[in-house]
Amino acid sequence: MGAFKKHLAAWAAVICALSALIAASALFAMRSAHYAAYEERLHSTARALFALSAADKTFSVHESLEAFLDQSGYRLTLIGLDGEVIWDSRIKDRLVNHIDREEIQTALNGSEGSARRFSLSAKARYLYYALPVPGEDGKPAGVFRLSRETPPFFVSARRNILLFAAAVLALAAAALTAAAVFCREQAGQFARLVRLAHDALPSRCMCAPCKNEMLELEGALKIIGAELTPRLNDSLEREKNLKAIIDGMTEAVIAADKDLRVILTNPPARALFCLDEHKAETLSLLEAARSTVLEEAAKKTLADGAPFETEITFHAHKAGQRFCVLCSPLFARGGEQGGERGGGQGAAFGVTLVLRDVTRVSRLEQIRKDFVANVSHELRTPIQLVKGFSETLLDSPLDEPEQARKFLKIISKNADTMENLTNDLLTLARLENADSQALPFETERCRIAQLLDEAVFSVEPPAQKKRIRIAIDCPPELCARVHAPLVVQALVNLLDNAVKYSPECALITARAFACTRELTLEVRDTGIGIPSSHLERIFERFYRVDKARNRGKEAGTGLGLAIVRHIALMHKGSVEVESHAGEGSVFRLKLPLESEGAL
Ligand code: ADP
Repeated sequence: MGAFKKHLAAWAAVICALSALIAASALFAMRSAHYAAYEERLHSTARALFALSAADKTFSVHESLEAFLDQSGYRLTLIGLDGEVIWDSRIKDRLVNHIDREEIQTALNGSEGSARRFSLSAKARYLYYALPVPGEDGKPAGVFRLSRETPPFFVSARRNILLFAAAVLALAAAALTAAAVFCREQAGQFARLVRLAHDALPSRCMCAPCKNEMLELEGALKIIGAELTPRLNDSLEREKNLKAIIDGMTEAVIAADKDLRVILTNPPARALFCLDEHKAETLSLLEAARSTVLEEAAKKTLADGAPFETEITFHAHKAGQRFCVLCSPLFARGGEQGGERGGGQGAAFGVTLVLRDVTRVSRLEQIRKDFVANVSHELRTPIQLVKGFSETLLDSPLDEPEQARKFLKIISKNADTMENLTNDLLTLARLENADSQALPFETERCRIAQLLDEAVFSVEPPAQKKRIRIAIDCPPELCARVHAPLVVQALVNLLDNAVKYSPECALITARAFACTRELTLEVRDTGIGIPSSHLERIFERFYRVDKARNRGKEAGTGLGLAIVRHIALMHKGSVEVESHAGEGSVFRLKLPLESEGAL
């Protein structure tokens, strides 16, 4: 309380000084006004009487003037040039020479003179006003002086002064009381502040109580400041790091408060929902994400107080993009722990949504499912046939060798189909494996004509069966850096198809040429061709133009062209087809040529 007592004393001194100053100023003003009023009246009366007397130019005193002077309390004195009193309305004798009077001197100099002093002749305080009486030559010939007894201000205004003093004292007392109450309140609040500061101090930093509360508070605040500054810096650093982590995430993160207003977004989220960084936090979750599914997920998470996972496909933002959304409730520190259910530990104050793009994973998953279904489908028919005919063979008597031979041929053919299928599947698996594991893909400089010969040789038996001629058109010196076995495999697949889908005695051309840093391997046939509606999907696994025409001798696995495409991609090349139903097809395998691989 010491500091506040000092304050109160200072306040009291200030109030007293101010009161005294106000009172003195007011009294001074009142006193000036008091005399000014008297002076004003004296001057106007003097001028009026002077004008009256000057009218007859004699300055003689009439009876009526004397009567006025008697009644009104004014004193008129006429004074000669030598200062001797010629006539005085109040005092008839014992009048001394007035030459040394201030107002007389002024009037004799031709101006109007006034003065206020104690009159020795009248024994009272007087106000004087003197006017020069003009002579024949225009110079002062005497002085016309009007005076009036003026009661001292403090005597005439005593009652008012007392009232005024009482008012000032009352005001000062009221101000002092208000100051005391204010100081006491401040002291109380200050004491609470000091207590709070003490409570906020870490126990190891307690500071000794001091008589001056201000100094005590200052000391406590200094300690608190010293304690808090590093923590504040630390938390700012943490916030910066946290922001960097959240911004650096590949997942889109969006957080909202319990009213589902956006409180945080990271760059992927803003890119996904086309949001402006500064405007995002003024929007609701629905306005920002424009997805009722996300909003429902956030609401559910807030209501349950537990993490919640769902999948969502965005059609509006990016067509067909699929996201795995992990919604987690936000709890104040010390509330929810470990993501368990709320269980009365306080409601979540917000929710975070982490959106992971699973479009590619979903697509791969779908491909995997389709692949398994296709393989199962392809194997089912030959397995059923093998099973059926082998069971028939087991059940039937062995006395019909011709029948048994027929059944065994069917079993053998279906076993071939299964073998082809598994071989193609293994080839594809090997190619994909090599691709995904980035195994060293070793190429060598090869003579392309040699590879074509090798491939044609492989399909010679089925071609001969159909009396099909395969012509090779390739410059003998054409060389390129390729993976020879894979290129031969691709050519075999293309030539095999050309043989399969060409009529008897047809001509197939296998051509190779280099053009603008690209090696083209072309297989042209004049077979049944492919309708244009199928051309786009022809390189997909298990895709066949017409399943019916694949039955029988020409049965294929539907994987041949997929393998060719894979081999082209492994060489960073491409494969294309040009075909018309009934006219034949041209398949072109285009491989980039390295500079040293050219001719
Ligand atoms: P398959 O083992 O069935 O031949 P592919 O992947 O090699 O499998 O070919 C896919 C489909 O493309 C074939 O089923 C066939 O319908 C069609 N096709 C491929 N090459 C030719 C071609 N040269 N002429 C006509 N159709 C073809």
